[in-house]
Amino acid sequence: MPAHPAFSIHTYGCQMNVRDSDLLARRLRAAGFAEAASEDEADVVLVNSCSVREKAEEKALGKLGMLCAARRDRPGLVVGLTGCMANRLGPDVFGLVPGLSFSVGPRAAGPAIVSLVRRALAGAKGMFVPDTARAEDGASPADDTAAGPAAVSSFVTILYGCNQRCSYCIVPSVRGSEESRDPRAIVAEVRAEAARGAKDVCLLGQSVMRYGRMGFAWPEDIPSPMGFTEPLPRLLELVAREVPEVRRLRFTSGHPSGVTDELVRAMREIPAVCPHLHLPMQSGSDRILKEMRRGYDSARYLAAVRRLREGVPDIAITTDVIVGYPGETEEDFEATRRVMEEAGFDNAFVFKYSPRPGTPSSLLEDDVPDEEKRRRDQVLLADQDARGQRCNDRWVGRTVEVLAEGPSLRNAARWSGRTGQNKIVVFDPVPGLRAGDFVRVAVSSARPQTLYGEVQRA
Ligand code: SAM
Ligand code: SF4
Repeated sequence: MPAHPAFSIHTYGCQMNVRDSDLLARRLRAAGFAEAASEDEADVVLVNSCSVREKAEEKALGKLGMLCAARRDRPGLVVGLTGCMANRLGPDVFGLVPGLSFSVGPRAAGPAIVSLVRRALAGAKGMFVPDTARAEDGASPADDTAAGPAAVSSFVTILYGCNQRCSYCIVPSVRGSEESRDPRAIVAEVRAEAARGAKDVCLLGQSVMRYGRMGFAWPEDIPSPMGFTEPLPRLLELVAREVPEVRRLRFTSGHPSGVTDELVRAMREIPAVCPHLHLPMQSGSDRILKEMRRGYDSARYLAAVRRLREGVPDIAITTDVIVGYPGETEEDFEATRRVMEEAGFDNAFVFKYSPRPGTPSSLLEDDVPDEEKRRRDQVLLADQDARGQRCNDRWVGRTVEVLAEGPSLRNAARWSGRTGQNKIVVFDPVPGLRAGDFVRVAVSSARPQTLYGEVQRA
């Protein structure tokens, strides 16, 4: 066993996985492991996987296979699987990936990771740890959140699992049922993120507006000076009050049923709460929405969008859409195009339907050919490009507050950062600028996904 084993984590999937990987890295660092400069130099490689689409699973399995094969040249290499696939595949994964050291569910991973890695380094193989029902903060340990480098933007999970059971979605079966975290534990974690340098914190839940709606009572000794009665607005108020160093607070993903008067008021009146909401729509066809069991139709969805636009000045609304759901006709697809246009989304993520084992829709014939799914995907992306350009053109000539993140990915001579609306802004850095600074940028031009401008000196 190397004296100071180095680890590397490869992450697939959503922000919750990004958050879980971050917490696993901190656990390992706190236990004396070092982060490897590259995967090739690591003694331990973890693959944090996603099961939402088949492609994501294929990629993770391919990666695991490659890593295990690399053992021929690196005999001591430890390869571990975490994330949703660990729960979905159970112990069968060891048949699919011979040589895998361990597989551990996302909730169990936090408390188990250090001991699993140590045992694997000592030669153990085929260890499986499924998620157990309740592991409050198993993956979110308050005790080691201080370890690790500063991050300007950070995530904090507030709601585990999901009870919605949309017809196409594997998340409820791999992430378990809804469990809201105690607001005091959330405040402690946000505070720890602020201490590490976070200025922008996004509160995460698969269906985040269900926070505190099941098996949960808001603690009586935490009042709401703003007079909120619903758990999510109360939580936003509490976090903003208790951790003022976090200048920007977000929450995701939304659902139209959660766009209540109180939530809209919280977004408008709590200065830290950003004017941005990711509100997955999935389809604009009422027939498909019903089949998907989304719990709303297009009129209800658009009513939520209207309420947000009327109540929260300059709000940016983004979405997820699935194309090629079983039985989706050209007419259904055109309805999606119309509703997306009416909603005026700032950005949209389009996914080609992928049947997932055990979901209700997997029993239906996946009858939209791949080529047609691709075409619909391209059409929606082209529509969104034009719409994104129109949305962003509205910012040209205005000055926006930008949280500077660092050199831009495309051109390291320039910097990029984000507005409260989560829009990426590219600008020339000024002397002394550091990641985490807020700067005022006069927007001079726009593209569908990016604003460009010049820093305004005070
Ligand atoms: N909980 C969020 C919600 O309810 O919208 C997002 C969950 S999922 C991790 C992210 C996105 O993946 C979904 O919004 C949906 O558009 C997409 N998705 C989920 N299941 C899918 C499937 N079987 N095929 C294609 N896309 C899927
Ligand atoms: Fe999946 Fe629906 Fe839950 Fe989102 S709300 S995680 S799409 S079941």
